[in-house]
Amino acid sequence: MPDEQLTNTSEELNRLSFRRQQLMDKRNILAMLIQFKRNNGQNEQQYSRETEELKEIDEQLNILSEKKIQLENRQRSSGRTHIIDTTVSTDVIIIESPPPYPAPRVILDVQQLPRHSSQTQCPDCHQFVTTDVTTKAGSATYIVCLISILFCCVAGCCVIPFCVDGCKDVVHKCPKCRSHIITCKKL
Ligand SMILES: [Zn+2]
Repeated sequence: MPDEQLTNTSEELNRLSFRRQQLMDKRNILAMLIQFKRNNGQNEQQYSRETEELKEIDEQLNILSEKKIQLENRQRSSGRTHIIDTTVSTDVIIIESPPPYPAPRVILDVQQLPRHSSQTQCPDCHQFVTTDVTTKAGSATYIVCLISILFCCVAGCCVIPFCVDGCKDVVHKCPKCRSHIITCKKL
């Protein structure tokens, strides 16, 4: 097989890997969306469009996989799997796309955000972000403070609840637009 043809094959393979990765990313997002809608009690008709799209992506992925096998066979039949030629700098080295790894858990319902920094979609700027978390004194803090005053206050121990994060409310903010997302109240 002439070198030029071989380079074309590898270029095509690279393009194919890239396209495959794009499709897989899109598939992951769709699957997440469907899961979210299902969790929110929507019935199948309400996410039929997404299901349809997912099927199309699967078909495209199948076609791409077949094409990839064909191209790899063509390359193998030439007797050189990897083209590494130090004399020609335009040579293409095939880099396989990394295996798909489980996507980090994104909590789309801000009401369900835990008391620590988490991944969610900002309701204001609609970007996927990891929230910035701060604590502030809430009703629980004051109640614990009052109880300590009533029962056992020695040497200002009533201020301790103001120093313990566990007694305070947690505020989630968007790191991109700085808007307030939600406050997880202790009480
Ligand atoms: Zn935002």
